[in-house]
Amino acid sequence: MKEKLYRFMQGRYGSDQLNRFLMILVVLCFVLSLFGARVFYILGIALLAYAYFRMFSKNRYKRSAENSVYLRYEYKLKQKVASFTKNMKQRKTHHIYKCPSCTQKIRIPRGKGKIEIRCPKCGQTFIKKS
Ligand SMILES: [Zn+2]
Repeated sequence: MKEKLYRFMQGRYGSDQLNRFLMILVVLCFVLSLFGARVFYILGIALLAYAYFRMFSKNRYKRSAENSVYLRYEYKLKQKVASFTKNMKQRKTHHIYKCPSCTQKIRIPRGKGKIEIRCPKCGQTFIKKS
């Protein structure tokens, strides 16, 4: 039995990060479908079929390319989330202004009253409340 399964899976793509993500989506769709949204059930079945198709596919090159596209998007999203959380933490202690002429972001500590800000990039000055 184990031998048969091994022979069946030989040369096939198997699982990767994209498939793991698809499986999470499948579970999410099925959970949402429990609340009466039939669309999610159909979507879940479709995603499950796609995940199995990828797993048993013999076109390793194409599946691997799909996975790297997914990983690129995942990386970009993680970067954005990290930058957003960093900005949220800084909001308590700093103001972030954009230079009116070159749109360079400038970080100013809060609680200093009205101050003149000089852009370090282009030298433009402007007045803002800190
Ligand atoms: Zn500037």
